[in-house]
Amino acid sequence: MRTKIKRVKKQQLDHAIIKEAGEILKNGGLVAFPTETVYGLGADALNAGAAGKIYAAKGRPSDNPLIVHITEMEDLKKIAAVVPREALVIADRYWPGPLTMIFEKTDAVPYGTTGGLDTVAVRMPSDETARAVIAAGGGYIAAPSANTSGRPSPTTAGHVEEDLAGKIEMIIDGGPVDIGVESTILDMTVAPPMILRPGAVTKEMLEELIGEVAEDRAFYEPGSGVKPKAPGMKYRHYAPRAGLSVVEGDMNQVVAEINRMAEEKIAGGSKVGIIGTQETVDRYTCGDVKSIGTREDEATIAAHLYGILREFDQDQVDYIYSESFAAGGMGSAIMNRLLKAAGHHVINV
Ligand code: AMP
Ligand code: MG
Repeated sequence: MRTKIKRVKKQQLDHAIIKEAGEILKNGGLVAFPTETVYGLGADALNAGAAGKIYAAKGRPSDNPLIVHITEMEDLKKIAAVVPREALVIADRYWPGPLTMIFEKTDAVPYGTTGGLDTVAVRMPSDETARAVIAAGGGYIAAPSANTSGRPSPTTAGHVEEDLAGKIEMIIDGGPVDIGVESTILDMTVAPPMILRPGAVTKEMLEELIGEVAEDRAFYEPGSGVKPKAPGMKYRHYAPRAGLSVVEGDMNQVVAEINRMAEEKIAGGSKVGIIGTQETVDRYTCGDVKSIGTREDEATIAAHLYGILREFDQDQVDYIYSESFAAGGMGSAIMNRLLKAAGHHVINV
C-alpha cells in the first residue's frame, strides 16, 4: 500500500484533505492524524473490521482496547450507557482536552474496539486537525497512538512514517504535537473514579473539581504483582531499542554516577546516550548527551521525551542513562512513561 502524506496547517485547514481523510475512514481505512497529545491512528470505531485493521497495522495485542474519539458532547450517549454526574462536571472543564474517561459501553460499540470489554474509553480532543478528521470520518474514531506497538509514541508525522508507511492509507502532517505524552485515563465506572494512566490532566486538577480520585498503584509499583487495570499498561511500552536506566538521587551524585557508568561502557566499546537537562548537560563528560529541557518547565520535558528516545534509536546507542523527575503534576506522567521505557530499571545513588 502506498501511504499518502498530506501537510496541513491548523489555522487554515485544507478542506479537500480533511474530506479525503473522512472518506477513507468511512470506507473502513486507516488515517494517522495529529492530536494535542500524540499522533493517533484513526479508524471508524463503530466498524469492527476497521478497528481490527488498527491492531494489524500496529502489531497491537488484541486485548488492548482502543480509545474512541468524539467531537460533540451529545455524541457521547450513543456509546456510553451510563454517564455519571461527575463525568459531566469533568467534561465541562477538561473536554475538549487530554483526558480520556471510561464508561459502560452501549451495543453500538463493537467488542473489536474495546478488546472484549463491556466498557469504552472516550476522549474529546482539542486539536483542530483531529476534530476536523473525526467529524469528517463519521464522529466516532478509534485512535491509539500511531506507532508500532512497543515503540515510543509518535510526536511528529515523521515518527508515524518511520513505523507505519506502507501499512496505512494516509498520514496527515500537522507538525509536532503540543503535549507529547498520551491522555490521562480516568475510570468513571468505579467510586471514587480511578486514574489508570497519568497525563496532562493531573490528579490534583481532578480532585479540585470532584474530590477524591484514586490512582492505579500498578503504574508505580510494577514489582508488586498488582495487575494494571488498563490492559495496555501491562505491556512493555514506549521502549527504545537500547537498554535504558533511570538514575535517581541527589543531582550531583546522579551526574557523577552516569558519567562513571558511561565511561565504563564506552571503554568496553559500547555507544552510550545520556538524557540530561538544561541544568546539567554541560557536566557530562562523555557519550551522546541530549538535553530534554529545563527542570523549570515540565511541559517541555514531556514534549521532548519520545522524540529523544527515537533519536537514540536512530543513533544506534547500546545504553541510555536518564536523570529522573519528581512525581506530582506532569512529573507523574513523565516518570510513568520513562519508567515503562526503562522496563522499570532504576539505579538509586
Ligand atoms: P493508546 O490509545 O495507545 O493511548 O492506548 C489506550 C490505552 O487505554 C491503553 O492503555 C488501554 O488499555 C486503555 N483503555 C482503553 N479502553 C479501556 C477500557 N475500556 N478500560 C481500561 N483501559 C482502557
Ligand atoms: Mg499507545
